[in-house]
Amino acid sequence: METSQKAIPRLALDSSTTVFGVIGDPIRQSKSPIMMNRAFRETGVNGVYAAFHVSPERLGDFWLGVRAMGIRGVNVTIPHKLDVMKHLDYVDDAARLIGAVNTVVNNGGMLTGYNTDGIGYVRSLKEEVMPVLKGKRIAVIGAGGAARGILYALLGEEPELVTVLNRTEERAQELAEAFSGCGNVQALSSAGDAADAVIRSADLVVNTTSIGMYPYVDDMPLDVSLLRPDAVASDLIYNPLETAWLARARELGCRTHGGLGMFIYQGAYAFEYWTGLPAPVQAMRETVLQALQAPSAT
Ligand code: NAP
Repeated sequence: METSQKAIPRLALDSSTTVFGVIGDPIRQSKSPIMMNRAFRETGVNGVYAAFHVSPERLGDFWLGVRAMGIRGVNVTIPHKLDVMKHLDYVDDAARLIGAVNTVVNNGGMLTGYNTDGIGYVRSLKEEVMPVLKGKRIAVIGAGGAARGILYALLGEEPELVTVLNRTEERAQELAEAFSGCGNVQALSSAGDAADAVIRSADLVVNTTSIGMYPYVDDMPLDVSLLRPDAVASDLIYNPLETAWLARARELGCRTHGGLGMFIYQGAYAFEYWTGLPAPVQAMRETVLQALQAPSAT
């Protein structure tokens, strides 16, 4: 494991530097450039990673530019994760089923799209708090864009059952149907006794909604008293680093897992797809943590 004590090597740009980046609209809040440039410095890869503000009507032009300039890798964020697919040569099967691409690899002008959000989440969950998901009972709260990748990756771990609980029950049903071929999954409204019973019996409860995200940091996505003290409580939100319900769950004895790890590992997978090297995860985490804890971060 790499140490954070050593001096961080400087980035030296020259005529061999490979270009990477992230596109979104907006994009200036993104922590990906500082994280990925740190990863290049740590590993000695001669690369540079920039943030590109690309509006939906310029998306096609952007990919022409990627091919023309030989930009090696691109991360894709809101609002382009779906529309990007029509500009690519290949889309990985998982990304197609999830319905979103967040990582593009450019191999000599041939563009391939992947989704590293869900697998990034599960890698972080397993490394940080819950090494084995096989046979577990899982409650996923929320059925939006982020829930899709999470559900796909969780089902790949062969849990006993995943229940999607959502305010709008039809959206949860739609999600459960879309992924029914991947494992044992059911859907319920997040309000009512049946949902409460699911939380009471869950080994892992994951919040994929935006409830509790800055600035509404006191809001909670569920009644925390329903959690078993031996359950794992997990949240995709990383601003704040520990949401109100995770803090409460921790006080009740639950193991907790915040959203920072998902962000780090989705980037780690992208780095590995682009470079073939193991990502320097500790250094990436340290850099993002410093940025999030800076006074101007919120
Ligand atoms: P989204 O597509 O807008 O989905 C939002 C979900 O939250 C829906 O299921 C929605 O329910 C539910 N919801 C929102 N407000 C609610 C409320 N007041 N009461 C009950 N349910 C509510 O959002 P998303 O893109 O999936 O993102 C969700 C969260 O994941 C965000 O906080 C985002 O920051 C986080 N995220 C983190 C990472 C990471 O790297 N850690 C990556 C991606 C996303 P309805 O269907 O009923 O509207």
